[in-house]
Amino acid sequence: MEVCSQEESVADVDELAALQSLEDALAHDLARQREIKALLAEPRELVSARQEAASSDSSLAELRRSLRNLEAEATSVRAKRQAGQDRLYGGTVSNPRDLRSLQAESEALSRRIGQLEDTMLQLMIAVDQAILDSRMTNDRLATLGAGHRDRTTVLTAESQALQARDAQLQETIRLQRQRIPGALLTRYDGLKARKAGKAVAGLRRGTCLVCGVQVPTHVAQRAQQRQEMIACTSCGRLLCPD
Ligand SMILES: [Zn+2]
Repeated sequence: MEVCSQEESVADVDELAALQSLEDALAHDLARQREIKALLAEPRELVSARQEAASSDSSLAELRRSLRNLEAEATSVRAKRQAGQDRLYGGTVSNPRDLRSLQAESEALSRRIGQLEDTMLQLMIAVDQAILDSRMTNDRLATLGAGHRDRTTVLTAESQALQARDAQLQETIRLQRQRIPGALLTRYDGLKARKAGKAVAGLRRGTCLVCGVQVPTHVAQRAQQRQEMIACTSCGRLLCPD
């Protein structure tokens, strides 16, 4: 009977240590999954690159629209000037006052065409610059987007591998918990909740591997004998000798 009880104790602390290491692995995986989820979100840099590209594209479109409007206006003013000049030199108008008026109108239209051409020239320079800006911001967006897609591929693969492993781990943990007596599991879970997720501490050369305190020799010896559950005299965790 005593032998049986001893064997149970020997098994128990090691079973608990095994359970803790399985649960640690699962917790570690779940933390990594949360990290991956955060990493899969679009980085702020990419979001702002997309906004910049959209904004430079719309500036370019606006400049081109203005240029087209000016070109249309210039075409219409040129046609008007041509019509006036046709009358001026066509011989149908002979009244000197009308001729002067036509001449003055033609000169005013020429000045207007000159102004329009100056503005169009400035706009063409602005369009060229906007084309460069748009190309630059779109290139940057493409580079950042490709980087994010590559990372997403890698991270998604990692996440899927973790999910598969975690499904196995959860099943192994379930089976491992079945091997441990209920009262001991309750003690283990209570300690785990109180002791920052670690109910079992390794014991090496008399030192608790979690809190780092050297336990009294007789405590270490009793733990080594594995005949009963021995708690660390400092942190209260169950000691599992190497
Ligand atoms: Zn300790």
